Amino acid sequence: MPIADYRVTKAILERHGFSFKKSLGQNFLTDSNILHKIVETAEIDRDVNVIEIGPGIGALTEFIAEKAAEVMAFEIDERLIPILADTLSEFDNVTVVNEDILKADLQTHIRKFNNPDLPIKVVANLPYYITTPILMHLIASKVPFTSFVVMMQKEVADRISAVPNTKAYGSLSIAVQYDMTAQVAFIVPRTVFVPAPNVDSAILKMVRRPAPLVTVSDEDFFFKVTKLAFVHRRKTLWNNLQAAFGKTEEVRQQLTNSLAIAGISPQIRGESLSIAEFATLAEALLPLK
Ligand code: SAM
Repeated sequence: MPIADYRVTKAILERHGFSFKKSLGQNFLTDSNILHKIVETAEIDRDVNVIEIGPGIGALTEFIAEKAAEVMAFEIDERLIPILADTLSEFDNVTVVNEDILKADLQTHIRKFNNPDLPIKVVANLPYYITTPILMHLIASKVPFTSFVVMMQKEVADRISAVPNTKAYGSLSIAVQYDMTAQVAFIVPRTVFVPAPNVDSAILKMVRRPAPLVTVSDEDFFFKVTKLAFVHRRKTLWNNLQAAFGKTEEVRQQLTNSLAIAGISPQIRGESLSIAEFATLAEALLPLK
């Protein structure tokens, strides 16, 4: 019987006297069909290494370990380490690392895979209180993850996968879609977790593009411009840019020139600009860097 079976989960929790820590986003999955679908969506086989974040009592880890070459699972809660040693004892391809993923030096850890040259995928049921910081940390780590198949709050999955001219579209959509394609694979009801969270969840599949979606000469400045454009969503692009760069005559002139060069109206809102248009805008704004 899988760990995720409700009765098995309950028995493990009781045997180890485990009590959930809400502050660590501990909502454990108790539905094998969903775990099966997650692993299918991630397209894992023996030629893939997997990084998991937050294995909990190992419900998802078990499904991944059955398919992958190796799994390295980062769990912050030290109370779960002996439990994982118990529940995953039959697997010799799982390494549990008792570290905060946000502090982990991923470049060093991935060298410890038996075959560090295999592609690395991220598969996880993420702790919801830090979904975005975790994704940003993984992207910033420069580890060449080939894909991410991760469960998160549905609302965050919608924001990451959003297209222009929608309420959900913003700098987070651009930060991820610059390097990755992003699509909601399926929705997960709150009822399949213990304890049930207050929100519905979604599995988001992100696959690394062969090259970034757009070419920019200064990535940091490009991402800065995308953030500035959404500081006040209801304000025009002009107002947001002016608030950020200063209301002097010099800035006004440069902004007018830059927007003309980019062929972008000052009166539109950031949410109507595509990622390609943001790239053009950022290039034209470089004199204001
Ligand atoms: N994978 C399990 C499952 O699907 O049932 C548990 C998922 S639960 C939503 C999130 C897990 O992430 C918890 O086990 C929690 O302790 C762990 N966690 C929370 N913050 C973390 C962090 N900063 N680094 C690593 N693990 C973390």
